[in-house]
Amino acid sequence: MKQDTKIVHGGRHPEQHFGAVNPPVYHVSTVTYPTIGALREGEKRPYDGLRYGRYGTPTSFALEEAVCALEGGYRSISTASGLAAITGTLTALLKSGDHVLMVDSVYFPTRRFCNEQLKRCGVETTFYDPLIGGGIAALIRPQTRVVFVEAPGSLTFEMQDIPAIAAAAHARGARVVMDNTWATPLFFSPFSKGVDVSIQAATKFIVGHSDAMLGVITCADEALWKEIKTSVAQSGVCAGAEEVYLGLRGLRTLGVRLRQHQESGMFLANWLKARPEVKRVLHPALPDDPGYDIWRRDFTGACGLFAVELTPCPASAVDAFLDGLRHFALGYSWGGFESLIIPTTGTILRTASPWETAGPTLRIHTGLEDPEDLVADLTAAFTRLAKVQL
Ligand SMILES: *Cc1c(COP(=O)(O)O)cnc(C)c1O
Repeated sequence: MKQDTKIVHGGRHPEQHFGAVNPPVYHVSTVTYPTIGALREGEKRPYDGLRYGRYGTPTSFALEEAVCALEGGYRSISTASGLAAITGTLTALLKSGDHVLMVDSVYFPTRRFCNEQLKRCGVETTFYDPLIGGGIAALIRPQTRVVFVEAPGSLTFEMQDIPAIAAAAHARGARVVMDNTWATPLFFSPFSKGVDVSIQAATKFIVGHSDAMLGVITCADEALWKEIKTSVAQSGVCAGAEEVYLGLRGLRTLGVRLRQHQESGMFLANWLKARPEVKRVLHPALPDDPGYDIWRRDFTGACGLFAVELTPCPASAVDAFLDGLRHFALGYSWGGFESLIIPTTGTILRTASPWETAGPTLRIHTGLEDPEDLVADLTAAFTRLAKVQL
């Protein structure tokens, strides 16, 4: 089956639900057993089937089955948020004395979890240059258990050579964990590129409507699934029933939405590139982007999330640009149907590799509005910016 067909069929079993197209929402805490024999039978397979709401329900199993089919892994685990998927995976795979290699362009809350929570647990983190490629071999120690990748970085849009990093990690017995939220499984196939665990902040494109928090961890094999599922189940972080349903519902339109996010995003990126107020557009699918060759080799598409560096101008001019936008809302997230923008100047923290820009930077999530209206909105914003500069 092709990806679009998997999107339609994944996790749906109408024959189990009176023919209903969508799996019903199971609201479950307690599960009762007809006999003591059945209760004991359930204990033998603690994380399979319906045993207690926290360990999974037919609704969460449906989402996990559908996302797993798209990612191309062995089995998935749903979590209360994207961050919970990341922290649950790291907690499962690391113990005191271990070492993790973390990409320097990582989503900031992941960095903070390493620096504060993992540190408290005796796990050491080394941040590495996203452009390191196979050179990562020099940073791998006997204690290195996990190499974490995220491509492109969701603020700086640097690409990573994931096959080269995975080859070096596997040669030394380390696992590769990827935050695959930007590409989704539709635009990057993680397990065919050497990734061992792929994470979706399903809050973003899978839910797609900015109305639920959800994460999904997908594992390459049974051993990894057992290890991570056990740890996540023991920590008590499960996804809520309605959130899981919203994830399933959003997933059915992921393909068509992403294609439009991609097309409108490319349209905006190219339009911005031609503006005199723009110094550089950070978008790996633009042929002159430093990450383009890797993107072309390994990815099959680009979502509409990218950044721009403006030509140097006063901060008050950027504020004038941002205040008064009609279609772009100021907001930190992305992946929903609506366009968003945030200033990122001075918010990008790096410790292993420098990140400097001469001009102010903005991050744009291209929504599903008509791109001509988005361009009109940005045109008016540039007019406001120019007035402040005078
Ligand atoms: C938003 C985001 C997350 C975290 O997801 P939440 O559901 O908000 O916890 C993780 N990684 C990336 C790249 C994100 O953009």
